[in-house]
Amino acid sequence: MIQSLLVANRGEIALRVIRTCREMGIRTVVAHSVADRDSLPVRSADASVCIGPAPARDSYLNIRNLVTAGVLCGCDAVHPGVGFLSENAAFAREVRDAGLIFIGPDPDVIELLGDKIRAKRSAMDLGIPVIPGSAGPVGNVKEALDAAGSLGYPLIVKAAAGGGGKGMRIVRSDRELSDVLAVASQEAMKAFADGTVYLEKYLENPRHVEIQIVADRKGNVVHLGERDCTVQQNHQKLIEESPSIVVTPELRSRMGEDAVRLLRVLGYTGAGTVEFLVDEGRHYFMEVNARVQVEHPVSEAVTGIDIIRQQILAASDEAMEFRQEDVMLGGYAVECRINARSAGRVTRFESPGGFGVRMDTFLYAGYFVPPWYDHLVAKLICVGRTRPEGLRRMERALGELTIEGIDTNTAMQRKIVAHPRFRKGVYGTSLLGDLLKEGALS
Ligand code: ADP
Repeated sequence: MIQSLLVANRGEIALRVIRTCREMGIRTVVAHSVADRDSLPVRSADASVCIGPAPARDSYLNIRNLVTAGVLCGCDAVHPGVGFLSENAAFAREVRDAGLIFIGPDPDVIELLGDKIRAKRSAMDLGIPVIPGSAGPVGNVKEALDAAGSLGYPLIVKAAAGGGGKGMRIVRSDRELSDVLAVASQEAMKAFADGTVYLEKYLENPRHVEIQIVADRKGNVVHLGERDCTVQQNHQKLIEESPSIVVTPELRSRMGEDAVRLLRVLGYTGAGTVEFLVDEGRHYFMEVNARVQVEHPVSEAVTGIDIIRQQILAASDEAMEFRQEDVMLGGYAVECRINARSAGRVTRFESPGGFGVRMDTFLYAGYFVPPWYDHLVAKLICVGRTRPEGLRRMERALGELTIEGIDTNTAMQRKIVAHPRFRKGVYGTSLLGDLLKEGALS
């Protein structure tokens, strides 16, 4: 069993990992940049180690420094959290080569899934429905136009190495496609050091529904139901719920089985998410995230299962503590992401609480939110027996949340949660864009 773990991340996810480790009797060492010296994870961990200056490329993305820190601090495992190096196969390999355990799937599996084209092919090989698209990468305008000819518009140009909603372009004509292709490839090159792009049929207003998987190293692969992440801004998730209002028990078992089948065949271990788009009652595979996700608490809330604990147990070669038939999906859970819109000192902070409310945050009054990193500063999770009950609770909890000194999206979240169209549940990924256009959120 792991005795001592390096947390190679910051913010709420670092704190999240530290908390579970404490419950498991695992010592934690948190790696931090100069800018995060006074952070809550640094205060909460058993030990901390500075791994470089503020810019992420010199600290949280500095593989050599992180691995050295892990070895020198006497750790036997590394948790990469989310973002940063969490889906970086080279990092996973370096960790392993240094004799430490990487909390995540094998590097080869991370590498395969990091290429969305390869991931999609793996799904197709198993007969899992995928979004129709180009058979592989499109290398030039002619190849793209040929593919577009048989697929028909609208299409979306996507980066094979993409993530975080970056580098996607919707195109509605040959002309737009020709114009956008090189730009999209350059953007992908800049963001992901890989300019490979491919085409997919653009579904106009689908639901984003994903399946949470946990898998051990003994061949057990179990799904924890779905999360609906349809409320998005610029392809980035803002609100996540479970169960999904559009998923019937039949669809849930089809999607769950497809996700389990795929990750079993790939030899996946730890926590992972299989993402689908759902359109007119049918599901289409999109990609796999080979890590824990920001929205994992929603699944924890409806199953009672600590997903970080499952990751650590799997990496320690322990057998899973439950089987598929033991997983009970109960009630409803919803998460609102609270994002900072400015850096600066938090002058006042009051956290919501009470029955059915969970707040995962690293904020405190007096904390300086640095300008260097991801803008997620808090995750507010509420449960209810039903969706209306959970959403009433979320409305109440958002009302209690006070963050002063920095600008956040809290007021916008309140408006979304209160909006009749969101409450009714009949919408697709264009909901937020539509509400913004109508001025309903300002
Ligand atoms: P990333 O890995 O950058 O997050 P994803 O492939 O997961 O990108 O897609 C993010 C979001 O972009 C989806 O949830 C969906 O809203 C939108 N999207 C992606 N592909 C399509 C598609 N083929 N049709 C419609 N929307 C899409």
